[in-house]
Amino acid sequence: MNQCNNIKGRIHSFQSLGTVDGPGIRSVIFMQGCPLRCVCCHNPDTWDFSGGEERSADELCEKVLRYKGYFGLEGGVTVSGGEPLMQSRFLTELFKKLKRYGVHTALDTSGCILDDSVKELLEYTDLVLLDFKYTNEADYLQYTKMEMGSAKEFLEYLEKIKKPTWIRYVVIPSLNDSGESLSKIFDLEAQYSCIKKTELLPFRKLCLEKYEEMGIDFPLKNTPEAKQSFIDEAYKKYEKSLS
Ligand code: SF4
Repeated sequence: MNQCNNIKGRIHSFQSLGTVDGPGIRSVIFMQGCPLRCVCCHNPDTWDFSGGEERSADELCEKVLRYKGYFGLEGGVTVSGGEPLMQSRFLTELFKKLKRYGVHTALDTSGCILDDSVKELLEYTDLVLLDFKYTNEADYLQYTKMEMGSAKEFLEYLEKIKKPTWIRYVVIPSLNDSGESLSKIFDLEAQYSCIKKTELLPFRKLCLEKYEEMGIDFPLKNTPEAKQSFIDEAYKKYEKSLS
């Protein structure tokens, strides 16, 4: 057994079957640890790199295979977080194993790192769900502590390797929901042929209780939730401009 096979992953939680993180019905693995600090984060309990539980790739693969019968033609596994790229070597081992069983693999990420290990992981990734957060550098830095240039560089690489990608954008009232911002997000789909879909996700505050339990102030506690009607209108308006 080589060294790679001994790596353990730090896992926050496992959702057996879900329908909102990628195509079809999917098992979702939430990884522990994130270097970003998005003001809208729903999972502050995934930030701490020393939290969660250690699992081997074999253990997780076996767990996922129990649900394979439900995946159908479109479903599979999505790895989310936290930030999965922080555990790219472990995930490469896991995805390699899953691919041997014909399981579709998706990676839900901010695109904050692009090193050789991440590039290897992308070889075993069928779909990237790239969470684009803001449309200008100042907001990116202020509201996520990450540079927009990193997300752009990641997207450029996905284009280069022709990796099927969905853009995901959490719409936050008064922070990133201007016509200009939304139009820039949909424009990405026109500029990059790897982008197969743009998803707008309404900002929600279901995480308030988590923040209270952890004794952390939720920066957006006074920001209203996004209305579904606003999201529906935005799709109508900006998706049209693509065709
Ligand atoms: S990248 Fe995800 S897990 Fe990390 S702070 Fe942002 S929303 Fe939270």
